[in-house]
Amino acid sequence: MDRRSFLKKTALGSGAAAATALAAPAYAQGKRTLTMVTSWPRGFAVLDDAASYMEQMVGEMSDGQLTIEKKAPGELVGALEVFDAVSSGQADMYHSADYYFIGQHPGYAYFTAVPFGGTAQELTNWYYHGGGEELHDELGQIFNLKGLLAGNSGSQSGGWFRNEINSAADFNGLKFRMPGLGGKVLGKLGASVQNIPGGELYQALSSGALDGLEWVGPMADERAGFQEVAKVYYTAGFHEPGSGLAASVNLDVWNELTPAQQAIMRYASMATTHYQLAETLANNGAALARLQSQGVKTLQFSDDVWDAFGKASAEVMDENMSDELFAKIRGSFEDSLATSASWINKSDGYYVQQRVRVLGG
Ligand code: CA
Repeated sequence: MDRRSFLKKTALGSGAAAATALAAPAYAQGKRTLTMVTSWPRGFAVLDDAASYMEQMVGEMSDGQLTIEKKAPGELVGALEVFDAVSSGQADMYHSADYYFIGQHPGYAYFTAVPFGGTAQELTNWYYHGGGEELHDELGQIFNLKGLLAGNSGSQSGGWFRNEINSAADFNGLKFRMPGLGGKVLGKLGASVQNIPGGELYQALSSGALDGLEWVGPMADERAGFQEVAKVYYTAGFHEPGSGLAASVNLDVWNELTPAQQAIMRYASMATTHYQLAETLANNGAALARLQSQGVKTLQFSDDVWDAFGKASAEVMDENMSDELFAKIRGSFEDSLATSASWINKSDGYYVQQRVRVLGG
C-alpha cells in the first residue's frame, strides 16, 4: 500500500472512530461478542490451545460482558484468509501467526519469527519493553488492525523428512512446507517451498505432495500425526526460535471497545502467551520421548548446514530492506535482541551448559 492510500485509510479510520465514540454508551451497556476467525483446526495442540485460552480468559475477566466466538478454518473463511477478513471488517478479530501475511507486508514476519531471530523470551522482551508493540500498531494502521501478541510456540523443530539431510545440497529440489521468511531461505537452497495450512499438512505429506515439512514442535507435531508418515525429525531449526501468535482486532472494532474492555483484551493476550507457552514447554519433552518410541529418529543439522542457513538468511533479510518500515522494525528488533543476548548468553545460556555438564541431561 502506498503512503497516499495509507493516509486515506487512516483518515477514514479516525472518522469511523469519531462516529462510533457517539455509539459507545450503547456498547457499554450491553454484552459484546467478537467473532474470531483462526488459522487452526479445532483441537490442534499449541495453536488452537492459545486461541481457546484467549477466548476463555476474555470471557472470565469481563464476567461475560465481552466474549469471543471462535471460528475454525472453513467455518467463516479459510485458514490463510483471516487477515483480509479482519482488515475488511468481515470478522472482528483473528488468531493466527502474523508471518503468514508477509505478502501483505514483510514486516509481519517479526511478530511471529524471523530466521536466526529471538527466543520466546527475547520476542516478548522486545514486544513489551523494546518498542515491538508500538511497531505492531504502526504496521496495523496500514491494514486497519490492532495487533496483540497472544501465544508462543517456543523453539520450533527443524522439521520432518523422509531422508536425512547430510548437506545443504540435500534441500535442492525438496518439496518442503515452511512459511514466512524461513521458507524464502530454504528457497535459496533450492527447495520448492510451499505454505500449506496446518490442517492440510498430514494429507500433503502422506500423498507425497510434500517431501517434508516443519510444523511446530513435539507436542503439536505428535497430535498432527506426522510420525506415521515420516521418521526423520530434526529437533532444532533456524527458522522459528520462539514464534509469537497474534490475536489482531479490526481497528474500528477495537476503537469501539471501552478502555476497560481494551485492557482486558491486552492483559488476556499477555496471560495467553505466558500460560500456553508454559503448557507447550512442559509437554514437549514427554511428546518427543513418545515419538522416539514410535521409531522416529531425532537428529541435529550439521554445522555446515547451519552455516548455509545463516548465509541464505542474511540474503533474505537484506532483500527486504528497501521497505522503510521493514528496515525500521528490523533495526528495533535487532537492537533489542543484541541487548537480550548480551545478558542471556552470560546467564541462562552458560547456566544450562553447566547444568548439563554437572548433572547430565
Ligand atoms: Ca512452524
